[in-house]
Amino acid sequence: MIAALLLLAAAALIGWLLWRSWIRPLLDLRDLIRALADDEANTPIVRSSLRPFTQISADLGRIADRQRRQRRQLADEGFSLRAILGSMIEGVMIVDPSQRIRLANDALYAMFDLTRSPINRGVREVFPHPELASAIERSLREVRTVILEMRDEPRIGDTRVERHFRIHLSPLAPVGGSTPAGVLGVFNDVTEVRTLESVRREFVANVSHEFRTPLAIIKGYVETLLDGALDDRAMAVRSLEVIQKHGDRLNLLIDDLLTVSRMEHRAPDMKYCLVSLPQILDRVLEQLDSTIRARQASVELALDVEHIEVDPPRIEQVFFNLLANALKYGDAGVQLRISARQRGEEIEIAFADDGPGIPYQDQPHIFERFYRVHKDRSRDAGGTGLGLSIVKHVVMAHGGHVSVRSTPGAGATFKIALPARHRSG
Ligand code: ADP
Repeated sequence: MIAALLLLAAAALIGWLLWRSWIRPLLDLRDLIRALADDEANTPIVRSSLRPFTQISADLGRIADRQRRQRRQLADEGFSLRAILGSMIEGVMIVDPSQRIRLANDALYAMFDLTRSPINRGVREVFPHPELASAIERSLREVRTVILEMRDEPRIGDTRVERHFRIHLSPLAPVGGSTPAGVLGVFNDVTEVRTLESVRREFVANVSHEFRTPLAIIKGYVETLLDGALDDRAMAVRSLEVIQKHGDRLNLLIDDLLTVSRMEHRAPDMKYCLVSLPQILDRVLEQLDSTIRARQASVELALDVEHIEVDPPRIEQVFFNLLANALKYGDAGVQLRISARQRGEEIEIAFADDGPGIPYQDQPHIFERFYRVHKDRSRDAGGTGLGLSIVKHVVMAHGGHVSVRSTPGAGATFKIALPARHRSG
């Protein structure tokens, strides 16, 4: 009985020793390796004092440590990458070799108004621009950067707007093998640059056209004079008068062009002072006196404002251009009415005439440079096509705005609104 008890105690002791020195550390190791595999290991605990176990435990501790550092580094890098991509104004996209989109930043979503995530979708499916997929394919095949200019025409409301993108497609460094791991696309929105370029091209074409006509006329009359008209006094005088008229027109054109360019390209140095509105209008009407009489025009004033704070010579030019137009396009006996009143913080000055008016479809464009509705009349009267553009820019430089209202056939009213006071004089 005692022997059996002793045997049992010995077996229990051996079992306990086995548990303590081998089984428990092995179970600890199993848990620890599982935790490492699951990326969850913290400080490893292998409960054993046997050297092989303490060594394995120390090694696993180092592995867990390294894993922790790498995890932190990855998290930091991920954070930095997200911060960089999120703050870029360029659209960024990474595409894998099968042309699936792997990454896209916020700017790319905004540029193409992507409402659905493009991630894991094909380039051709997301972008209806076959040239983009072809350029990516070329970058992958030739392992070089490809630059692409792409035009997009998204619909905004009822209208289509034109957008231009310049896209750098660079192959990503190959991982093993020689084919790139994908392509990095960086999208720049160059719409503004392209628009400016086309505006400049159009402007140069318009200016050349405006110069060509008077120059051709002057050249024609000079040739006529040289061909013998000089001896015919009446003919010579007529020719010189035409030459003078077109010389004046060229001068006017240059003056207007310089004014437009000064008002458009630099913040014009405005010199504000408080002046009498009736006095300024009187001066302008005096300059136009002979035209007013020649057109048998009548001018009515209804001014509820005495003083305005403006850059006087510039605002004089605005009044002159508006009144000259009313006289130019109105028939004989045209009636003009100039009224002014204060509306809140603004002073509104209206120039109304009972001339031919402006067709509705032209009204949104008449403040554009060289836009003419009554082309022959404008040219015959020496118009440069820049008068209203100058009006718009001068008024805008004053911090105001200009508008037109017209019922075709029943006159036009141009309204300018100017701030009643300017903070810096
Ligand atoms: P322009 O030198 O040709 O007069 P503007 O820029 O001053 O150039 O005017 C642009 C066009 O707007 C003119 O060619 C003319 O067709 C139209 N327009 C301007 N003012 C009037 C007006 N009061 N009545 C009718 N049409 C006008």
